[in-house]
Amino acid sequence: MFLVGPCSTILGKATGLPIYQLLGGKAQDDIKLYRAISQIEPSAMAANLASYRAEGYTKFQLKVGADADSDIARIRLCAAALKPGDVLVADANTGWTMHEAARVVNAVRDVDVYIEQPCPTYEECLVTRRRTALPFVLDENIGSVHDLTRGIADGAMDVINLKISKVGGLTKARLMRDLCIEAGVPMTIEDTWGGDIVTATIAHLAQSTPADFCFSATDFNSYGTKDIASGAPKRVNGTMRASDGPGLGVEPIMAALGTPVLVI
Ligand SMILES: [Mg+2]
Repeated sequence: MFLVGPCSTILGKATGLPIYQLLGGKAQDDIKLYRAISQIEPSAMAANLASYRAEGYTKFQLKVGADADSDIARIRLCAAALKPGDVLVADANTGWTMHEAARVVNAVRDVDVYIEQPCPTYEECLVTRRRTALPFVLDENIGSVHDLTRGIADGAMDVINLKISKVGGLTKARLMRDLCIEAGVPMTIEDTWGGDIVTATIAHLAQSTPADFCFSATDFNSYGTKDIASGAPKRVNGTMRASDGPGLGVEPIMAALGTPVLVI
């Protein structure tokens, strides 16, 4: 038994439909993926960006949120490594206080970069949002329908990260996805972490989301080294597609999952 979107999975298997059909139908073909660039020394991050670019990625999420001076260098060096059409997001993962965030957004105001989740609280992020003209992403502060509707009402962000398991599974994520489309807020469709099964779940929600509102998505299974399900999406040139098979279209590799912790 596996516990990712189980109700949707069972409904898909019972009806013979892929989950993306149950979530509204196919709304795009190739789902564009981002690559996270781990936080290390600034010039090494720019080199990593270039190597991921060579693998086909065109969207990059820099992990910043350290001290403002080194983060300014990270953003500038990585922006210089981009090609036309690439997308750069500087994700502070709540790491800055408001004065540090103010220094960074002022110092990179001439750079084509998105600023993601600069500070821990919603209120601190709102202060930073009002200090910058750069496009703004909220992640850690969007965990529920309530968080989303408050953010929409406040004009607190241009994009959100929609993490499926964090918001309560596919049914809640679909509701939030549809609210985002109504409000004009594109999404990075992803999760907190995962492998083949989570990547398949992301792919189905993203496949049923119009491309204009699918800012990016994540192929978590290419970060790991162990296959835990067959039939999961595989990245091709920086994109993926959901399976057309019933349900998630994946079969868990039980031997890879190890000894069950609970059997029902
Ligand atoms: Mg983030």
